[in-house]
Amino acid sequence: MVIKMAKQYETVIGLEVHVELATKTKIFCGCSTAFGGAPNTHTCPVCTGMPGSLPVLNKKVLEYAVAVGLATNCTITQFCKFDRKNYFYPDNPQNYQISQLYLPICRNGSVEIETETGKKQVGIHEIHMEEDAGKLIHDEWEDCSLVDYNRSGVPLIEIVSEPDMRSAEEVIAYLEKLRMMIQYLGASDCKLQEGSMRADVNLSVREAGTAEFGTRTEMKNLNSFRAIANAIEGERERQIDLIESGQKVVQETRRWDDGKGESYAMRSKEDAQDYRYFPDPDLVPVVVSDEWLAEIKAAQPEFRTEKMARYKEEYDIPDYDIEIITGTKRMADLFEETVKLCGQPKKVSNWLMVETLRLLKEKEMEPEDIRFSPEHLAGLIRLTDEKVINSTVAKEVFEVMFENDTDPEKYVEEKGLKTVSDEGALRKAVEDVIAANPKSVEDYHNGKEKAIGFLVGQTMKAMKGKAEPGMVNRLLKELL
Ligand code: ADP
Ligand code: MG
Ligand code: ZN
Repeated sequence: MVIKMAKQYETVIGLEVHVELATKTKIFCGCSTAFGGAPNTHTCPVCTGMPGSLPVLNKKVLEYAVAVGLATNCTITQFCKFDRKNYFYPDNPQNYQISQLYLPICRNGSVEIETETGKKQVGIHEIHMEEDAGKLIHDEWEDCSLVDYNRSGVPLIEIVSEPDMRSAEEVIAYLEKLRMMIQYLGASDCKLQEGSMRADVNLSVREAGTAEFGTRTEMKNLNSFRAIANAIEGERERQIDLIESGQKVVQETRRWDDGKGESYAMRSKEDAQDYRYFPDPDLVPVVVSDEWLAEIKAAQPEFRTEKMARYKEEYDIPDYDIEIITGTKRMADLFEETVKLCGQPKKVSNWLMVETLRLLKEKEMEPEDIRFSPEHLAGLIRLTDEKVINSTVAKEVFEVMFENDTDPEKYVEEKGLKTVSDEGALRKAVEDVIAANPKSVEDYHNGKEKAIGFLVGQTMKAMKGKAEPGMVNRLLKELL
């Protein structure tokens, strides 16, 4: 009798990640890269592919690409070129995309990721610079398609990994690490939902222990970590089913429909030769001098690992707070700048860890969307330190400040939220409360300690929350 053992399969994944760079202008012309804008208003002859127009490289694009390459341990190609990738598509007005094939700006890097099973290096095959395409809008009512070239020529870098990842968990750890580094560099905001970071997932499966890779497919249209994880699971199963039933995986590009939880074939995968790449004759080769490279290296920011170590040294805040705060550049900057202004790391950390995180979650916002300034948070902390407002009022003021970056000092002044520290006024309120609540007073005298809590509450209410509970307590005890 033959017992058939279920085969074990290993998933092999490599990623192509496109990142929109945070330059003010496009890669080869002076048009604005601002998101939105009426269709075709951020355009010129260059980015709409008019004959005779000539591209000129935006230096900032090169600088960002080199900075990302250095952060990912790449070798920088100091003599690099641009190539034309030829294909027709209505959102691509030149009939070619300017990209890099032969001499990409960065090569042979690595990114360290951390998962439950430990640390791991993911190889970076290359990073190249290229231009984004326009956007097609399919108008079903008018039965026509429209094209908006505002995005045409927006600078991108494409980060191509080696097929080193083995699970969705590793893929997400890799993407989060990349996103954090790029945000720390200020090279992009890397928002998956808005498309400023886009990941294509190349996936194959092979029997565990096999040396050769299996045939891969590429999945596009993944705009959230959840969709990426679902797509990996779905595609792994689809490929295993094919192999188990004696069929072959076809190398192709597939579109993942996260709503349906399945993928479908878009097109058979083309090879580089199909695009007839050749060096772009309109652009000169680029030379990154040793001096400039050294300058970009020197300008690399402090990344998370170093930042965490420094926070541990410098600030007396819990490790957990350090982990959360350094998790995004936005939080870390906000923390450091506020501490610089008020010198109170613990209090700043508390506002970020409790109220800020609570409101971000409630409003489904990312730390990048935080609007309030360090000056205003420091101002709010000063108001509570100087007992101008009590902690309940401070939370109310914080919510307003979180919403519109309102100046807390002005707001407290205008709304008359200052704690009444005038003892005469407070004494009067306490006397009134005592007179109005004989039952509680009697309870208190009969040893019911709790009764005083009620009387404090009544006084706070009479003062519209603008009193220091400690002072109310003291006055009550004195007058009872
Ligand atoms: P192409 O030139 O067709 O785009 P590349 O060799 O540049 O192909 O690889 C594209 C991506 O696919 C890379 O991220 C790479 O890591 C990944 N990849 C290549 N082969 C495999 C494979 N067998 N399984 C999974 N991913 C792969
Ligand atoms: Mg490729
Ligand atoms: Zn333009």
